[in-house]
Amino acid sequence: MSDQQNIIIVGAGHAGGELALAARQNGHAGPILLLGDEPGLPYQRPPLSKAYLAGDMAVEAIQLKPRANFDKAEVQLLPGRRVVAIRREQKRVELSDGSQLEYGRLALATGSRPRPLPLAGVAAPERLQNFHYLRTLADVEKIRSRFVAGARLLIVGGGYIGLEVAATAIKRGLRVTVLEAAPRVLVRVTAPEVSEFYAGVHRAAGVDLRTSADIAAWSVGADGSTLTGASLADGTQIEADLVVAGIGVLPNTELAEAAGLAVDNGVTVDECARTSDPDIVAAGDCTSHPSALYGRRIRLESVPNALEQARAAAATLCGKPKAYASVPWFWSDQYDLKLQMVGLNQGYERCVLRGDPAARSFAAFYMKDGVVIAADTVGRMQDFLVAKRLVAERLPVTAAQLADDALPLKSLLPAA
Ligand SMILES: Cc1cc2nc3c(=O)[nH]c(=O)nc-3n(C[C@H](O)[C@H](O)[C@H](O)COP(=O)(O)OP(=O)(O)OC[C@H]3O[C@@H](n4cnc5c(N)ncnc54)[C@H](O)[C@@H]3O)c2cc1C
Repeated sequence: MSDQQNIIIVGAGHAGGELALAARQNGHAGPILLLGDEPGLPYQRPPLSKAYLAGDMAVEAIQLKPRANFDKAEVQLLPGRRVVAIRREQKRVELSDGSQLEYGRLALATGSRPRPLPLAGVAAPERLQNFHYLRTLADVEKIRSRFVAGARLLIVGGGYIGLEVAATAIKRGLRVTVLEAAPRVLVRVTAPEVSEFYAGVHRAAGVDLRTSADIAAWSVGADGSTLTGASLADGTQIEADLVVAGIGVLPNTELAEAAGLAVDNGVTVDECARTSDPDIVAAGDCTSHPSALYGRRIRLESVPNALEQARAAAATLCGKPKAYASVPWFWSDQYDLKLQMVGLNQGYERCVLRGDPAARSFAAFYMKDGVVIAADTVGRMQDFLVAKRLVAERLPVTAAQLADDALPLKSLLPAA
């Protein structure tokens, strides 16, 4: 396309914000419009379950970039605008107010949304004032009024978000119960050894953590506007003043699907972030992309993926396609512990521990066919950096080498 044509970006989250600035950095000279259905500037989501929820961060501190960066790059920010349709034949998007905007190239960065929790026994879930998901700044504002010392917080879901909210709540003096349907926490992403460690940390901090918990019914207050608790299939009653659900996310692919783009567990993109329409790219949580490392398509829900894929999408839009081939990585902060994870552990044959979980500093390496396919590190930044290379470069190592904490992990890397 001519670099004078306009670029419209749908979704002003991590991917959309980065894509807008990167398109300018890549030399795009035409207008760049960044449309998002949330109010305000693009912001970071990770602090929503951590420092921002704790009240330790001002709202300005969670902005993705200061407004001046968008102004300088001449990115036109259009918050509070929802795109409801893509008319590919006319190269237009339609907004919820009925207006239409023409595009030269389009970028989809619509992210994901919380997976809805079935609320057995609740007649009118939309009336509930104390039941929330945690995805947006607006969600935090709603949670905050009841997020006070002494309140009984019931969290459904023992994944990252549920556990981070639990840690923040304990710090604020709430009484916390976590219900996880699976037999262990973090079941989708870690080995039993790491789950056990985190379960122990939360219980020691005072969380009433229940795994294999099957919620049979919810109780609702007399006026129908609050959940007062849940009864479990084993007969246990749990009372609550505030309920937060974190049971995963669903990619926002409906726009793409309705426009006839290929979608398969995310908007289907190639390694350069191109969708099945040559004029449309996509990036972030809403996409699935081919991973050369894992030999299959993957959909990631992480900030590093959103940012790096957005840069690849921007380069593609500017006629400088560059394959995106990063190794997936992620982090989670709970209490004083930093968990850093690299790679995907599905199909691992052996989990090797290095260091001592009791000392709150250890690493778990997931091995398959003599290489490390993924690793979790707790409080071990140096090991994490080496693990990233072990995974990315598929370097041959032995379990004995990984487990030997006296042997510097760095020595397993080829000499520079
Ligand atoms: C509480 C919380 C904690 C997290 N912690 C971590 C962490 O510690 N580390 C980490 O790596 N990741 C973390 N994540 C995940 C990370 O935030 C996401 O992977 C990241 O936000 C994905 O960026 P994105 O731009 O693809 O999507 P999003 O950030 O979801 O942005 C998409 C935007 O598009 C908007 N949108 C959707 N449809 C439309 C439409 N039709 N019209 C206009 N706008 C639309 C959405 O409202 C949203 O604002 C966390 C997420 C949450 C919610």
